[in-house]
Amino acid sequence: MSNTLTDIASSVIDELSAVLSSAQIVTGARTESNRRDQSEGTPSGEPLAVLFPASTEEVAAVVTIAAAHRIPIVPQGARTGLAGGGNAIEGALVLSTTKLKKILSVDVANQTATVQAGVRTIALARAAEAVDLFYPPDPGSWRASTIGGNVATNAGGMLCVKYGVTGNFVRQLTVVLADGSIVHTGQRTIKGVAGYNLTALLVGSEGTLGIITEITVGLLPKPASPSGVSATFTHPADALAAANSIIAGARRPSVLEFLDGACIAAINAYDPASTLPAGAGALLLVQSDQLGQSREDAEAYAEVLRANGATDVAIAHDAESLERLMSARRLLHPAVHSARGGALNEDVTVPRSQLGALLDGLAEISRELDVPISTGGHIGDGNLHPVIGYNPDVPAEIDAAHAAFARVIALAIALGGSASGEHGIGVLKRDHLDDELGPVLRDLQRRVKAAFDPHSLLNPGKKL
Ligand SMILES: Cc1cc2nc3c(=O)[nH]c(=O)nc-3n(C[C@H](O)[C@H](O)[C@H](O)COP(=O)(O)OP(=O)(O)OC[C@H]3O[C@@H](n4cnc5c(N)ncnc54)[C@H](O)[C@@H]3O)c2cc1C
Repeated sequence: MSNTLTDIASSVIDELSAVLSSAQIVTGARTESNRRDQSEGTPSGEPLAVLFPASTEEVAAVVTIAAAHRIPIVPQGARTGLAGGGNAIEGALVLSTTKLKKILSVDVANQTATVQAGVRTIALARAAEAVDLFYPPDPGSWRASTIGGNVATNAGGMLCVKYGVTGNFVRQLTVVLADGSIVHTGQRTIKGVAGYNLTALLVGSEGTLGIITEITVGLLPKPASPSGVSATFTHPADALAAANSIIAGARRPSVLEFLDGACIAAINAYDPASTLPAGAGALLLVQSDQLGQSREDAEAYAEVLRANGATDVAIAHDAESLERLMSARRLLHPAVHSARGGALNEDVTVPRSQLGALLDGLAEISRELDVPISTGGHIGDGNLHPVIGYNPDVPAEIDAAHAAFARVIALAIALGGSASGEHGIGVLKRDHLDDELGPVLRDLQRRVKAAFDPHSLLNPGKKL
């Protein structure tokens, strides 16, 4: 660092020390643990400092100082992101929301909850449950991820097939803008159309338009305890046909998940306790949480699965046996990762009618480039997570994995889908945005960014 830069850095730290305590400012080697999210192969840099503000006002004070010195800011939640969106940028200020962890209110009469952005997803869900209400969005990372991160990525999860994604529940946001001003978007009410819908614009903006400090979400009445079914198939195409029959039926599943044969083999190799049938070509997991009929729904789903050629069908009506059925799905990423030592996570989404073409295309890419692709995910949403395995010590395998990664995204876009259903663009998928959005929309989006953040200080180089 040149002397001038060092001087600016130390004067910025001095100014920050006037608004935050020393425990809230971390510099030097101790910033290392806040460098990266959970994505693989994404770039990150050494930040000037990692800051831990505990209120909207402290966030605003920090942003005002950063704006005055034109220093970029990277918002970070729990860093469970899978696209590099929360990765630190060289010389930037990382603003961690992990001290913004108050549940401010749970309003039973209006069925809403208001929380600070650093509250963990599971804590919000439990607070709603405590008053017989329900916050459905359930990313697999929910024990660690923050609500702010979920809003910033518009996170999904297994229950989205019935309830929708995080954005469907967001009513109101408190946001610190790039110049340090504080705004409240949206409304607490169910309806409201005054002005443009900036809440919807901020949802999924990955920290590039504003720093979300407080969130009001809508809640639902608590559903029934779920019943579920797991079933294996010889061919993935039969599993897809069964999933399509379920979607076409009158019953609404709360979970409809898929694993292909490669995932099943990887999970069996990874988890000695796994009871998945060796050699199965695919697995479906279906649940119902419909009040008064979840048991009946599960039995009906089992029939549909059998009619579509399911071999092993297991039904669970109690929480413990249901957890046994579902636990395999949660091992998708660690199991595939451990099989090769490296794994690139895709998050492609296509119209449901194109899922067959997506599965065929994935098999073709795997064959042509000689890379292992294990595919699982939210088949009921058309959102799958092909995971591309590679040996990180073999450069040719790394290259082939990246080539396959690009081809899988191109395939999804060609099928009328998207590069990302829920994980976000971050830095990982930015190169593919031109193909998906086209030049006119891309330019319009850049102008929206410029309106919010004229000096490009908020998470620059991410999302767009
Ligand atoms: C095991 C595992 C399972 C997962 N399962 C799912 C899943 O089922 N569904 C799914 O959608 N994702 C899943 N993810 C990805 C990840 O958990 C989600 O993207 C999650 O929403 C990120 O939350 P976070 O608090 O960790 O945010 P971070 O990773 O810290 O940040 C994510 C992005 O949001 C921005 N950001 C964070 N907080 C704020 C804020 N307050 N204001 C403005 N911007 C902010 C960051 O700059 C970054 O761009 C999974 C990840 C893992 C590791």
